[in-house]
Amino acid sequence: MNIRFEKNIAPKEKPQDNVLGFGKYFTDHMFLMNYDPENGWHDARIVPFQNISLHPASTVLHYGSEIFEGLKAYRRADGGIQLFRPIENIRRMNNSAERLCLPQIPEEDALEALTTFVRTEAEWTPHSEGTSLYLRPFMFGNDESLGVHTVHHVTFAIIASPVGSYYAEGINPVRIMIEDEDVRAVRGGTGYAKCGGNYAASNRAGERAAQKGYSQVLWLDGVERKYIEEVGAMNVMFLIGDEVVTPKLTGSILPGITRKSCIEILKKEGYKVSERLLSVEELSNAMKNGTLKEAWGCGTAAVVSPIGELLYKDHKYIVNEGKIGKLTQHLYDTLTGIQWGKIADPYGWIYKL
Ligand SMILES: *Cc1c(COP(=O)(O)O)cnc(C)c1O
Repeated sequence: MNIRFEKNIAPKEKPQDNVLGFGKYFTDHMFLMNYDPENGWHDARIVPFQNISLHPASTVLHYGSEIFEGLKAYRRADGGIQLFRPIENIRRMNNSAERLCLPQIPEEDALEALTTFVRTEAEWTPHSEGTSLYLRPFMFGNDESLGVHTVHHVTFAIIASPVGSYYAEGINPVRIMIEDEDVRAVRGGTGYAKCGGNYAASNRAGERAAQKGYSQVLWLDGVERKYIEEVGAMNVMFLIGDEVVTPKLTGSILPGITRKSCIEILKKEGYKVSERLLSVEELSNAMKNGTLKEAWGCGTAAVVSPIGELLYKDHKYIVNEGKIGKLTQHLYDTLTGIQWGKIADPYGWIYKL
């Protein structure tokens, strides 16, 4: 792939690592590439970070043709930079694209775009403990017409944001509300795709949870509101007795790469892991009779996030005395160790730049 480069002649001053937060600062460049049926993907370019101009009838503004990905570039102690399973993000993006009738990007081209862009912005990868360069590839339809149909003109972009340590104040278990009114996704819908609309539709429940003092929502299945699905932007796992249970991928759950990695680590280390249906009734029984030992969310942003409290229909359940559990901590240490290059990677997950 030929990637044109237009250097930003007015680079920004980089923020200090301790003010980064999440997604507030952006690097000096962005990657762009366009698609139309006649030319396929074309005009791949890395240009100064700038606003995107859209026709007011642009498809994405009316019908939500948009998908995205999220992954991080990590700074190793030796100064080098590495990605974690980037090919998994690329495959998932193509699966999301297929669901929304957006075009596929050949895996090798997507990887080249990503790695070339990260190399260009390498200096923006922060050095402090727990920080990283968050990468946000996204794709949207921008036909200049109000007709509802498969889009013909598409833009693919990658932007990057240096992000702070998720646990700057130490690992605090989160409080989560089980949502029994709104649903996030149904089978046959777009739950397994990382598409913008899923998140717009999630906000109302998130607001309600926040008003009650809960940081996130745990979704139930969209048909019976009976089975546990996932948290806002994290998959969930429970240690019940000696079995790690995580909801199986039925089509309405986002197939997280952190989820997949946790399962692979646990299986390799001999734990009993079940991807199966888990009803909220089974979970509340396990909480009542004390067999629920640990609960955690897993996703790229926080990696592994212990759940200290669950609220279901005004019943509060405290998990593991509100503290991080041993297995949760072990998964966190293993994954972050591999991601930042502090421990060996026996899985071949690391992609060094
Ligand atoms: C991105 C996301 C996840 C986590 O996926 P990772 O690949 O582990 O980052 C889980 N659930 C939802 C709804 C998501 O958007």
